[in-house]
Amino acid sequence: MLLNATQTKQLFLHALKHQYAILAINTDSPACITDALEAARAVDAPIIIETSLWQLKGHSFGFGDAHLGMARYLAQLAVLCSSARFSSVPVVFHTDHIKGAGALELLQAAIRGFDVQGIKLRPSSISLDASELSHTENIAAIRLLCQTALEVGVDIALEMESGVDDGITPLADAEVLLGGVVKDFPKRIALWAPGVGTQHGLGSQAAFSAEAVQNHHNLASGLAGSRIGIALHGSSGLSTEALQAAVKAGVCKVNWSSESLLIRSQTALEFYQTHTAELEKTHANWKNTAMDNGLQSFIATKYVPIARDRIQVLGGAGQGQAFISLGL
Ligand SMILES: [Zn+2]
Repeated sequence: MLLNATQTKQLFLHALKHQYAILAINTDSPACITDALEAARAVDAPIIIETSLWQLKGHSFGFGDAHLGMARYLAQLAVLCSSARFSSVPVVFHTDHIKGAGALELLQAAIRGFDVQGIKLRPSSISLDASELSHTENIAAIRLLCQTALEVGVDIALEMESGVDDGITPLADAEVLLGGVVKDFPKRIALWAPGVGTQHGLGSQAAFSAEAVQNHHNLASGLAGSRIGIALHGSSGLSTEALQAAVKAGVCKVNWSSESLLIRSQTALEFYQTHTAELEKTHANWKNTAMDNGLQSFIATKYVPIARDRIQVLGGAGQGQAFISLGL
């Protein structure tokens, strides 16, 4: 079930109420999307499929054209989420780390919807990479997206961010940034992504602070007048204890990219190293080994259980049907 913006906001509130977080996998290939959905299905959990600009433009999606890439993600997810296998999995499609020239234009196009065979498809939730924006620019950009949604007449679920790689974001920054949006556009910001000491990539996560999560969750919720979940960027390398402390303190979305990529690429390397003989043209199993299915099925056997375990660590197991049964 591919969630719309209104349902997505309900899902985040459900996660906060029941103290779990939804794993957001930065899926950089169609096979990775399948594996993410399969991991969620296996433990009856909601899942977030998210994409950054580099994937939208990547070979498997936009082939250089981010608009085409977004439409292709949406078309794939619409089909997969309507299938018997995955129709019971609540799926959020989230844009992540969209920045640079054309970023706002792309997100406005996403709010208007991509026409796929006469059906308008939109992301469930949206974020903009603010790492190169001043506070004033960040506020103006988020307000523009809210305004666009108003003009189109659709709901919107936004993740607003600030300095996610820059240590711990001062609470005063949160007041300025969120305060610049929530009064005029209530119920549009669904998630707040401040710096809480984590880093993107595979480096040390020693500076992570669950206390910072709690403080930002409390402040953001107070400013918005309703609970605002914290989106945790740069979760690769965080211990189980740290992840669970983050969830307890108000994180309801955990982004997962670097570690996911590392597992997939290392497993691909292992596949080619252990199947050298089968890749010789004279080998009886050459075709099965050489086809994309050979590599991707091999990766899935290792990747799906790890993704499933991470979903369980975040408390998401069993929450899929619990959410859908609310009938929203
Ligand atoms: Zn991030």
